[in-house]
Amino acid sequence: MNPNLICGGCLCGSVRYEATRHPYNITHCHCSDCRRSSGAPFVTWASFCRSGFRFTTGLPRELEWAERLRSFCPDCGTPLTFMSGPEADEIDVTVCSFDQPATVTPADHTWIDDRLPWIRLADDLPTYERKRKTHAA
Ligand SMILES: [Zn+2]
Ligand SMILES: [Zn+2]
Repeated sequence: MNPNLICGGCLCGSVRYEATRHPYNITHCHCSDCRRSSGAPFVTWASFCRSGFRFTTGLPRELEWAERLRSFCPDCGTPLTFMSGPEADEIDVTVCSFDQPATVTPADHTWIDDRLPWIRLADDLPTYERKRKTHAA
């Protein structure tokens, strides 16, 4: 068994995926687009090398929005992935669609500029007004 294998999928099980490479840049994103696309105050993402990620059951519905590509289960609507474009070599996956979300640990909060005032952060993780500054983008 591959200890690095991460499996996950949507609420209804129509779409399943697996990732065979290490997740990195685990972040809580507070941007208004993540918020609205999930219906939640913020979304926790993990990045993977695109070549190590694949859908194993079904395919998500893709939505191009604000020049980004988001994907969702076409049946139950669970948000699954985010890419900066169709040819991007990095894919972000919603940590809470993992079968075992506790296996990764978030490192920071991004897009704090958009944070809702009633979300109080007490985890002492670094915060970034927008993107992570150590990361060229
Ligand atoms: Zn589903
Ligand atoms: Zn976001």
